[in-house]
Amino acid sequence: MDKDSIYDIAIIGAGAAGLTAGLYAGRANMDTILLEKFTPGGQASLTAFVENYPGFPEGISGFELMDNMRKQAVKFGLEVKTAEVKFINRHDDLFCIGTSACEINTRTIIICTGVRPRSLGVPGEKEFFGKGISTCATCDGFFYREKEVAVIGGGDSALEEGLFLTRFASKVHIIHRRDKFRALAPFVQKAREEPKIEFILDTVVTAINGENSVENLTLKNVKTGEESTLPVAGVFLYVGLKPNTEMFRGFLDLDDSGFIKVNEKLRTSVPGVFAAGDVRETPLRQIITAAGDGAVCAYSAGKYLEKIE
Ligand code: NAP
Repeated sequence: MDKDSIYDIAIIGAGAAGLTAGLYAGRANMDTILLEKFTPGGQASLTAFVENYPGFPEGISGFELMDNMRKQAVKFGLEVKTAEVKFINRHDDLFCIGTSACEINTRTIIICTGVRPRSLGVPGEKEFFGKGISTCATCDGFFYREKEVAVIGGGDSALEEGLFLTRFASKVHIIHRRDKFRALAPFVQKAREEPKIEFILDTVVTAINGENSVENLTLKNVKTGEESTLPVAGVFLYVGLKPNTEMFRGFLDLDDSGFIKVNEKLRTSVPGVFAAGDVRETPLRQIITAAGDGAVCAYSAGKYLEKIE
C-alpha cells in the first residue's frame, strides 16, 4: 500500500459534527477526508431558521449556517468527497473504507452520519409520501400557500417547523399524542402565541386519507377514544429520529435504539473510531452540541494518532 495514500482521519457525514471535525482536523494539519453521500449540510441545512446557535443574534438560515461551516473547513484544507460508504474493514492499525466511488485507507475514523426522520406507521403514509406528506417544511412549505396543514409531534422539530409553516399555510394544526410537550419551552410559548396555530392534544393520527393526494386525517382522542376527521392538504411528520448506524451494526457497540455508544472522549468501542453529533448516545441533539462533538473528536483522534492516549 502506498504510504502517502493513507489519511490521518476519514470523517463520514457532512453535517455540523462532520464539518466541525474537518475544520479542527484541518487546522491541526492532519490529512483529512470527509465522505458525504448527498450534499454537505445534513439535517441542519433543512432547518428554515436557526435562533439558538450562538453568534447570530438575529438568527440565521440553516442552509447558510451549514454552507459557512463547509467553506470554513475547506479553507483549512479539508478534502470533501461525494461517496456513499458501503463497508469498513480493519487491518491492524489501519481502516479501509469501501465507498461507491473508491477505497479510502485511514488511521482513524470519525462517524457523523446523523439521523433521519422516523415514520408514523399508519395506513396511507407510504402511499401519500411526497403527495401531501413531507418531513421537510423548508423544502415543501411553499406548496401549501393559504391551505390548512397538520404537523404531527410534540418535540422541537414539530413546534419549530410548525411555526415556520405559518408563513404559508392558512392554518397549522399541531397534533400531539399527549398534553405535555417534549419541545423546549420557548418554542411552545411562541407557538401558543401564534394565531394560525391550533393544537390538537391527546390525539393520534390513525390514517392518512385521500384520492390522489392527502385530503384528510382520521384522528383518535387517546383519552376519550372519540374518532374524528380533519380535512388538510398536507401533513408534516416530526415524530422523532432514527440513527443512521445500520452499516456499523456488529462493528461498533450501539445502544438499544441504535445510537453509537461512546466514552467522554467520544471514542467508540473500536480503538481509532470516534463518533460525533446526533448519531451518538447523547442527552441533547442540537447544532451547537454536534459542532462541539466534532471538535472533541478531531482532538481525540489527534491524541490517538500521537499515541498519547
Ligand atoms: P423528538 O424530540 O424525539 O420528538 C418526537 C415527538 O414525536 C415527541 O413529541 C413524541 O411524543 C412524538 N411521537 C413519537 N412517536 C410518535 C407516534 N408514533 N405517534 C405520535 N407521536 C409520536 O424528535 P424531534 O422533535 O425531531 O427532535 C429530535 C432532536 O433534535 C431533539 O433532541 C431536539 O431537541 C433536536 N432539535 C432541536 C432543534 C433546535 O434546537 N432548534 C430543532 C429541532 C430538533 P412523546 O413526547 O409523547 O414521546
